[in-house]
Amino acid sequence: MDKSTSILIIYTGGTIGMVNEPVTGTLVPIDFRHISDQVPELRRFGYRLETVTFDPVIDSSDVSPETWVKIAGAIAERYDEFDGFVVLHGTDTMAYSASALSFMLSGLEKPVIFTGAQLPIGVLRTDGKENLITSIEIAAARDNNTPKVPEVCVYFENRLLRGNRTTKYSAEHFNAFTSPNLPPLAEAGLQIRYNRNLIRYPTVRRPLSISTKFDTGVGILRLFPGLGRSLVHSMLTTEGLRGLILESYGTGNAPTLAWFYDELRTFIAGGGIVLNVTQCPAGSVEMGLYETSEGLLSAGVISGKDLTTEAAVTKMMMLLGSELSGDRIESLLSKSICGEMS
Ligand code: ASP
Repeated sequence: MDKSTSILIIYTGGTIGMVNEPVTGTLVPIDFRHISDQVPELRRFGYRLETVTFDPVIDSSDVSPETWVKIAGAIAERYDEFDGFVVLHGTDTMAYSASALSFMLSGLEKPVIFTGAQLPIGVLRTDGKENLITSIEIAAARDNNTPKVPEVCVYFENRLLRGNRTTKYSAEHFNAFTSPNLPPLAEAGLQIRYNRNLIRYPTVRRPLSISTKFDTGVGILRLFPGLGRSLVHSMLTTEGLRGLILESYGTGNAPTLAWFYDELRTFIAGGGIVLNVTQCPAGSVEMGLYETSEGLLSAGVISGKDLTTEAAVTKMMMLLGSELSGDRIESLLSKSICGEMS
């Protein structure tokens, strides 16, 4: 037991931190300063655990870029003091937040583990205790004094997933997240088995810096048979829209309708950026494979390859919020910045 290990727990809100109020029975957030009273097992780690609680705590449906800036700020402010960070967050938008944080924290050399629960920590059958305990263990895990997983991850129901590869897929099961295009970075069974070949370790050492500017002038257009021109037109002519995530079919295909390409070309000619991701839960865009995606390629649409929509939209918002030129943004969108695409 290493008494010098220190972990900062950042509680943003969500189901995990709830208990039944003794009198009314309604769910109320617990005081995380006394987390060890709720989860006495934590004392057995022997670590220094400190908590920061958002005021107010929020349901993750209310998460916005300001929330991400707050989480990143809480990490950056005490970065040197702690060995790792555990972010307790509602599950509904956890995949967006974990993706955003992965893009915001450059130079990260310590674990940032997002977790939450489907059932509140104060409920007998909660999944929150195991998720919290194992997340802390992973955040503290070291080899030769270097963190085992110096990445932004999501830990849920036995699996550690790269944050920017995750998506919430079950509103019901404890196993709520998937990472369809990248195997888990670690799996917790009798032992926690780390998949070292997949974990990203820093190659150059630089101080942590955080990007805090986001441009929310981004839209998501999911194709469906029957999608009409007026909807596409009004979306693409929305004031302030600078980027579009196109959720296309299969390997990146779209209808061959002339009006559809006219609308996209006009948007792109006006400086807009269109990023093509597949609406399939797994797999990758391969533009040019079929005639139905060749048109997108020649219209100037960028391939998002196997990006999740969550990673695509947060990456786009962050790049558009930067001072980078349009060409540079396009080039960064088509390649991996921190393991978000294959
Ligand atoms: N609505 C909740 C939230 O995302 C659900 C959860 O915590 O899992 O904040």
